[in-house]
Amino acid sequence: MSGIAITGSASGIGLATREHLEAAEIEVVGIDIRDAEVIADLGTPVGRATAIAGVMEACEGSLDGLVVCAGVGPEFEPLPDIVSINFFGAHAVLAGLRPALAEAGAAAAVVVSSNSSTLPGVDTLLVQACLAGDEPEARQLAATLEGHRVYAGSKLALTRWMRRQAPGPEWIGAGIRLNAVAPGAVRTPLLQRGLDHPAYGPAIRNFPIPAGDFGSPDDIAAAIVFLLGPAASFCCGSVLFVDGGTDAMIRPDTY
Ligand code: NAD
Repeated sequence: MSGIAITGSASGIGLATREHLEAAEIEVVGIDIRDAEVIADLGTPVGRATAIAGVMEACEGSLDGLVVCAGVGPEFEPLPDIVSINFFGAHAVLAGLRPALAEAGAAAAVVVSSNSSTLPGVDTLLVQACLAGDEPEARQLAATLEGHRVYAGSKLALTRWMRRQAPGPEWIGAGIRLNAVAPGAVRTPLLQRGLDHPAYGPAIRNFPIPAGDFGSPDDIAAAIVFLLGPAASFCCGSVLFVDGGTDAMIRPDTY
């Protein structure tokens, strides 16, 4: 089969990506905890195995693309589940579906990170535990941190994992381009839960966005579709910030 699997396809950025692809008559296999072809909780080992088996069956072992979008925000509780869903769930799906992407011959995968991964104060030990594949240690550390630090750590670890893997033999060497988008604040149910939170709400509203307003799910879906497609054929290990200028404003001299 030729098609694209999307985690987090039931809402927000994942749903918008699904709609963009389906408008171009591309077949989509959605993976989500609800309202998807493959129903699975990516926060648990059993759910991850269910997700991989379900997609493998649906795509008959061959996938043109994968979008790893499912995630929860900094206000999600219990806090260790943020790292289990955002890093370990994403990592398991990428590793488990990589053979199906390799089977397609030329494929692409896009990881949905966040521009909060570059904010100061990301917990180094949490990032190290994620990259070492040590979920019990990462969950233990997450329980001691504030939600926004767990969220940022999970996204930084995911982006670093992507950067380490993308140029290697298992990914570009197998014909699979692996890249990331790093959205800023985007109007989705996840952002709304943050806005409704007594501490995160004011912080999100005060966060500077040079372009003037929050983004839309379509803004991010367009970038994901670009990274999946032939126009991005030379992109490998790229992190595309789509955040209205926030990252450039905060870190102008990073490059
Ligand atoms: P959303 O809440 O609208 O969608 C997230 C989707 O993930 C939902 O369909 C949800 O059911 C699914 N999901 C959550 N937990 C799951 C689990 N355990 N197993 C399977 N599916 C699960 O949120 P969104 O804003 O569209 O977020 C999509 C991605 O974008 C997330 O990874 C998020 O961290 C990232 N992001 C969002 C923003 C933003 O401002 N909205 C900014 C930066 C990054």
